[in-house]
Amino acid sequence: MPFIPKELKHRENYLLSEKGYVRKRWRGRIPIALVFPNAYALGMSNLGFLYLYERLNSYEEIVCERFFWEEGPLRSLENNRPLKDFSIILFTLPFEGDFVNVLKILKACEIPLEPEKRDKVVLAGGVALWANPMPLSPFLDGALLGEWEAMEREIIPLFLRFAGEKEKLLEALHEKSFFFSLSKPTSEKIKILKKSRPEKPIISSLVSERAQFKGSILLEVSKGCGRSCRFCLAGYIYRPPRGYSRDTLLEVVSQIPHGAKVGLIGLEFIDREEVLALGKALLAKGVTLTFSSLRIDALTEEFLALLTQTKSIALAPETASERLKRVINKWIPNDEVLSLLERLALRPLKRVKLYFMFGLPSEKEEDLWESIKFIKDLKKRKFPFAFRISFSPFVPKPHTPFQWASFNLNELEEKKRLLERELRGAFELKIDSLKEALLQALLARGDASLKEFLLSLSEGEPLKRALKKVERLEAILSPPQERDFPFPWDRVDISVSKEFLFREWQKAMAERLTPFCEVSKCKACGACVSL
Ligand code: SF4
Repeated sequence: MPFIPKELKHRENYLLSEKGYVRKRWRGRIPIALVFPNAYALGMSNLGFLYLYERLNSYEEIVCERFFWEEGPLRSLENNRPLKDFSIILFTLPFEGDFVNVLKILKACEIPLEPEKRDKVVLAGGVALWANPMPLSPFLDGALLGEWEAMEREIIPLFLRFAGEKEKLLEALHEKSFFFSLSKPTSEKIKILKKSRPEKPIISSLVSERAQFKGSILLEVSKGCGRSCRFCLAGYIYRPPRGYSRDTLLEVVSQIPHGAKVGLIGLEFIDREEVLALGKALLAKGVTLTFSSLRIDALTEEFLALLTQTKSIALAPETASERLKRVINKWIPNDEVLSLLERLALRPLKRVKLYFMFGLPSEKEEDLWESIKFIKDLKKRKFPFAFRISFSPFVPKPHTPFQWASFNLNELEEKKRLLERELRGAFELKIDSLKEALLQALLARGDASLKEFLLSLSEGEPLKRALKKVERLEAILSPPQERDFPFPWDRVDISVSKEFLFREWQKAMAERLTPFCEVSKCKACGACVSL
């Protein structure tokens, strides 16, 4: 048997676990590297990343190969090529924490971090970057802000025409309203490009047994969400909520093999009649369904019937404080959560994961105690499944009503201690790292002056030392609560007005609820009119 080096075996193992990858010959083609700067399992469960891979490879003139942030030498999965061999490098960035990995990857592959010192074109997209491209922009040739299906027709001709001619390609990209780079005049707004009427649901047929959604075909059944949870970046940035007709969704069923596993992706869909029809048609084909998210207040009996094979379910009450439920605009009374858990107890479920947050705007210790009491009470009720309780520190995200909220590390540390003291041992408990939350808050809210901070982190300096390089730490983490305070991300137009967000912030502080979106009637935030 020929000798296969360890790192090559590692990549071959990934390919062996996949169905649907593309391995093309390079000769005469434009090589594009598609990089997910985090683990393989996460990247392979990201529908945007998978869709981009399939779309780029659908062009005869292009060869697109994948990279992930893994131990060992970084080479492409398909043909074991180094990153340096690709003329265009595209990063997908769904999480702010991955910004540091972008620098680490470029350095590990001996590609200069300064755009003017390299001949490669380094571009990036993904929701973390759409929200605020400023912190990473000193290291990028540009950011692509928008949905790929909306921009593909404009970008591909430029790639085909100018690949290998960096200056000309960037010059042409600069003309596009969705393209951001530091060299664009600061007065120019960058509009996130979205499909006003998505025609066909996005589906990925590249599946991997080593993805988080193990061996599943991923299918997007809706875009955006109209529930208006005030902490949720995705809920605002993907506005307006957009769905597909029943017929369009049912057309997809013929593409899915009998007995397949399918992950349905969408922020809010389970009370839509057409998605229910799709779920039933897939079940009739012997398909096993999994879901990206489940809304407690929309889990009807009809919908629960789709979860035939499901052994584990994740629900997000966020808080048990009824006051805070109004602040965050996620009004799901505790009785409703308990009644759903009782209905779930009648099903053969093994595990229920419950997600909570702490450090929410205006949160007091008594609010946290309400969550603690609620969780302790679950223990007494003796449900037949195991609970896994997860607490995440709240991070105030751009383009949400909570962009005016503060991130206070000292308060969070105290609250974390309280949770650990009261809940340790009650159930399986996970409290997310405060260090990572602080990093996330800075990278979500900062500007291009974070350049030195990012460089330090990429060199392996501990966060505490790297923080000394942040010039305006307080201003980034605790903004004044004034409507016209200029945020670094104000240049990015997500189609939702800042005035609307500020009104929502004031309503949050007054503990007032906002109803769900009514797309055909409403103009409140501007997204339904401006798209
Ligand atoms: S305009 Fe109204 S319905 Fe449309 S996204 Fe905004 S709030 Fe929702």
